[in-house]
Amino acid sequence: MAGFQTFHDFIGLQSFLKEKFHKQTIGLVPTMGALHIGHISLIERALEENDIVVVTIFVNPKQFNNPNDLKNYPRVPEKDLALLKVFDRVVVCMPSVDAVYPSNDPYKKVELGLLDKVLEGEFRPGHFNGVAHVVHNLMYFSRPSKAYFGLKDIQQLSVINHMVKSSSLTVDVVACDTVRDKNGLALSSRNLLLNKAQHHEALIIHTTLTFVKSNIKSLGLQETLRQAKELFNKGTLNLEYIDVVDRETFGPYKIDSTNNVCCISAFCENVRLIDNILLG
Ligand code: AMP
Repeated sequence: MAGFQTFHDFIGLQSFLKEKFHKQTIGLVPTMGALHIGHISLIERALEENDIVVVTIFVNPKQFNNPNDLKNYPRVPEKDLALLKVFDRVVVCMPSVDAVYPSNDPYKKVELGLLDKVLEGEFRPGHFNGVAHVVHNLMYFSRPSKAYFGLKDIQQLSVINHMVKSSSLTVDVVACDTVRDKNGLALSSRNLLLNKAQHHEALIIHTTLTFVKSNIKSLGLQETLRQAKELFNKGTLNLEYIDVVDRETFGPYKIDSTNNVCCISAFCENVRLIDNILLG
């Protein structure tokens, strides 16, 4: 591919893809930037499965219910571009708000039901409508065959699966494993906002999730959650929620199902972190 390409709207991206990659497979990796190895793992998977990969970097105002969170979200575009330049067959789109949400917006609102009411849905009102909207439009404008998302944001993944099924998009949604640091902390752009001591304190999240996975069969749901909260509260983070739900519907835990997931959200000072573990 001749030279590294960056676009700031979809018109340029579309004509480039049409001219150079007509009839070839396009993989889409939507991100909000401040890229880390978790994002890179999605890009590598997309490169294995497609001829060309479109990485979008867009901090989506519609999915932030808290204006301070939007303001403080890490933004390092030059560093991101330097990271992406090393990949052949990757093009970057850093669209403006107007490019993602044009006046003739193609999105028709999708009802999210329970997904928008429990856990992340309860604590971040409106967040998933913003996610469904932005991902729909990024898919609509870049026309991928497949799009890649991390299991790290498992409720988001269910929202996207639901949105795609409810729309006229024909995109395969691919779920990718969570990448963690050597101590178990899930990589996240928000980790950039943590100091060294806070990185260490945040490990209680993975420790608690692992506790739930190891004990739920023997202790049962209620007792496991009680002990998990006790364990978590020995650390310094503030727990927002911990619960076990069905990984697709986000309905209640079912004892005989292999589809259960334990999800946590917690604050490390003012940095909100989420993580989950599949219980199998
Ligand atoms: P974000 O930039 O946080 O919106 O994330 C962009 C994509 O990367 C989403 O599909 C996330 O689920 C995924 N992602 C974020 N962190 C990780 C991680 N540690 N491992 C795997 N995927 C991740």
